[in-house]
Amino acid sequence: MRLVLLGPPGSGKGTQATRLTTQLGIPHVSTGDLLRAQVKAGTELGRKAKEVMESGQLMPDDIVLGMLEERLEQDDARPGFILDGFPRNLTQAGELDQLLHRIGQPLDAVVKLDVSDETIVGRCKVRYDEQGRDDDNPETVRKRLAVYAEHTAPVAGHYREKGLLTEVDGVGELEEVAARITRALPGDAVASHS
Ligand code: AMP
Repeated sequence: MRLVLLGPPGSGKGTQATRLTTQLGIPHVSTGDLLRAQVKAGTELGRKAKEVMESGQLMPDDIVLGMLEERLEQDDARPGFILDGFPRNLTQAGELDQLLHRIGQPLDAVVKLDVSDETIVGRCKVRYDEQGRDDDNPETVRKRLAVYAEHTAPVAGHYREKGLLTEVDGVGELEEVAARITRALPGDAVASHS
């Protein structure tokens, strides 16, 4: 099962992806997590990523794509993956199509979590207080939402045209949202792992 989770920052993609990893037995691939690992390791890429992330902007496409390609080549991603945080714009969506076409593994589904901006600002504030992620401070969250509206929201249209997109209400109890996502997945993919 090759799945993309779409949705604004703080819409619950990471939480739901972690759940789906257990349910489906495939890895959660988050470009944000890959970048945060570089920041933690203190690499040159990490230093650049820290600056960009704190500004609420996006990293250059070629850097993120290179990182993603390397991750998807790992053995555990062979049976499938849950992508979270990628693609972030139409260029990345096109690159992902090409990459998956090249390796003969097209996407099975794209699920978008719908959550209002106000709910997001509130959720990120809680995450900021609990986890201290610099880019969750309310001012940066507003910037990230603006970047999302301009660059990432059109990606939903890209997948809608391909007939891959399902939109799911991302507000509710964790289990409730998880059940909505499961219903949005192609039936045989879920049945074969349950
Ligand atoms: P996330 O954890 O997905 O919210 O990502 C945190 C930050 O990492 C974003 O605000 C961007 O600065 C950067 N980032 C993550 N994924 C991408 C991507 N696919 N393209 C560009 N920048 C990204």
